Order: sequence, then structure tokens, then C-alpha cells
Amino acid sequence: MAINIDEMKKRLIQRKKEILGSEGNLSEAKPKVVNPDDRDNGTQDKEDDAVDVTEEQQEQAILADDQALVTEIDAALQRIKDGTYGKCLADGKPIPEKRLQAIPWAAYCIQHEEQLERQNAAEEDVLSHDCDTHYA
Ligand SMILES: [Zn+2]
Repeated sequence: MAINIDEMKKRLIQRKKEILGSEGNLSEAKPKVVNPDDRDNGTQDKEDDAVDVTEEQQEQAILADDQALVTEIDAALQRIKDGTYGKCLADGKPIPEKRLQAIPWAAYCIQHEEQLERQNAAEEDVLSHDCDTHYA
């Protein structure tokens, strides 16, 4: 069965909207104004601050991850325009439909994706990155 490009395009755009939408929500959910009543309770505040820092770090990690995904989605949308969507960037072979259904922005066949992941993993060892890859 051939890949339904229109369907994939819809899914890519939808995913991008979700990511950009959630980024907006995250920013809005960051309260800058502190309720004066809460400030009366000193010990409670310290705990709250600690939680805030952790949440902010998590938020930044999510944003970096989302940003990378948006870049991948944009690249996939560009490939749809170029008519190269669904083909491995490394060897031009068709990416299996099952894989595209799971990862509509996939740019490589499984073989080359694994190769890249091994390369990335090696680089991450050198740079001591602790980023999780989002491909299962
Ligand atoms: Zn390939």
C-alpha cells in the first residue's frame, strides 16, 4: 500500500501545532507573580522554590526536544514539497510505511537511523550528553 502523503502532511502539521501550542501553554503556566500570602510561610517557600527550579529545568529539556522535533517536522514537510518524502536521506530507498506511520518525520530507513544513532551515541559519550533519543 502506498503512503498517503496528504495524510502524513496533515499529521506532521498537526504534531507541529501541538508542540508549538504546548510551548505557549508552558510559558503561560510559569507564574511570575508570587502570592503575598504564601510568602508568610517561610519553610513552605523554600520547598516551592526547589520544585520551581526542577520544573524549569524539565521545561527547558522539553523545549529543546520539541525544538529538535519541529525542525525534523519542517524538514519532512519540505521533503513532501520536494517530492522526496518517504525516502531515506542516506540511500534514497523507500522508508517502510510502518515506520512512517510510527514516525511521520522519519528521514532515514531503519538501517541508517540505527547507524546515525550509534554515531550520535558515540558523540554523546565524548561530550557527556545525557539527552535521550526519542526513537524507540
Ligand atoms: Zn537508508
